[in-house]
Amino acid sequence: MSVWSSTVQRGEDGALSVGGVDVRELVGEHGTPLYVVDETDFRARASAFRDHFGEAFARHGAEVDIYYAGKAFLCSQVSSWMHEEGLHLDVASLGELEIALRGGMPAARIGLHGNNKADDELRRALIAGVGRIIVDSFTEIEILDALARELGVVAPVMVRVTTGVHAGGHEYIATAHEDQKFGLSLASGAAMRALLACHEAPHLRLSGIHTHIGSQIMSIDAFRESAERMLGLRAAFTASTGDELPEVDLGGGYAIRYTEDAEALDPAEAAYAIADAVAAVMETVGGTWPRFSIEPGRAIAGPAGLTLYRVGVVKSVDLEDGGRRAYIAVDGGMSDNMRPVTYGANYTAAIASRESSADLVASRVVGKHCESGDIVVRDVRLPLDVARGDLVAVPATGAYGRSMASNYNAALRPAVVSVRDGQSRVLVRRDTIEDLLALDVAPE
Ligand SMILES: *Cc1c(COP(=O)(O)O)cnc(C)c1O
Repeated sequence: MSVWSSTVQRGEDGALSVGGVDVRELVGEHGTPLYVVDETDFRARASAFRDHFGEAFARHGAEVDIYYAGKAFLCSQVSSWMHEEGLHLDVASLGELEIALRGGMPAARIGLHGNNKADDELRRALIAGVGRIIVDSFTEIEILDALARELGVVAPVMVRVTTGVHAGGHEYIATAHEDQKFGLSLASGAAMRALLACHEAPHLRLSGIHTHIGSQIMSIDAFRESAERMLGLRAAFTASTGDELPEVDLGGGYAIRYTEDAEALDPAEAAYAIADAVAAVMETVGGTWPRFSIEPGRAIAGPAGLTLYRVGVVKSVDLEDGGRRAYIAVDGGMSDNMRPVTYGANYTAAIASRESSADLVASRVVGKHCESGDIVVRDVRLPLDVARGDLVAVPATGAYGRSMASNYNAALRPAVVSVRDGQSRVLVRRDTIEDLLALDVAPE
């Protein structure tokens, strides 16, 4: 499996194309930096989750819904793609909810998340008729019940549970106590108390329990462990109320490859392992199977996207160990990809506008912002002859790139274009100076 999306190719003259469109043509039309989404790849990853999880759970007569986690990258056309692929959609703010609805995702297929939802977010969600609101605190349970009463509706809710399974990166640590802001703790009994509160609230309809254990998770064991604990909680709820919770959501966090030497979590493998773990627990606790759901974000959007930058200044710097490093400055940086500076995330890069047979040298791709931490790719070997005007492509930027982009240094956030079958389409247009100045209130 490559770190590049499935339709990326190097043409006869050495330039990259994606979705059948030459990258030089893309930047000629849309400028740089440019986020490019490989629509075929994006949809294929979404439908792979749907099919693998669907088949793995169907073997046990159970069903699974796939909620695309919109915070990875959301625009109305992506909302529409996800609807066409039979997925559901998670949002975590009023803005994401409005974009999802604009794309035609039926409200009933939308879930609303957030540890501190505003009254107007909850109100809009109830009026729109979202399928589930994942409640994250006792305060929210009270507010939501009152709002639902005021609006004359019944609010469909799930309780966000902190299972004590911490995951992310290459290992997971099970702890009894969760020292972070999300969810209601299983170990302390808060989760059960919240379930009972929702169960008794007159204007709430409790549909189940939700957990999200982390991001960029490599360990199938972490998902398995979390599923087991969730089903234990569901069984305890049944024991205390006589009612069975109809739904269990196991969250997202499926790891992807950002660099050639890294590994990804295979959705098919995960699907069968989780389904089997669930089957084993259901055998022990008995009762009917709940309907399951999962929430992959980066595993759908991440590998489907790449960023194109134009090289500006190239410097060669002496290193303490006697070596040298090429600093290749491009026309974007931390404003279009926060992940390196925020999480120390690693990426890779390649020259996109041509091929080179020059020797490879230790290189660092950096941005144009006023911080030395403004790194695009920390360590990569690139040809010695990379020069001003070349295009550089960075793969696997489809998730948490544009969605976390900022206007730092009053940068103009890049456009996002999708490509497919030789055609490109704008998903999100580039910021303009007029956009920036429209928000700035000029002196009288
Ligand atoms: C962020 C998030 C996801 C998606 O995480 P990925 O690592 O992008 O798969 C899923 N569910 C919830 C509740 C989240 O906050």
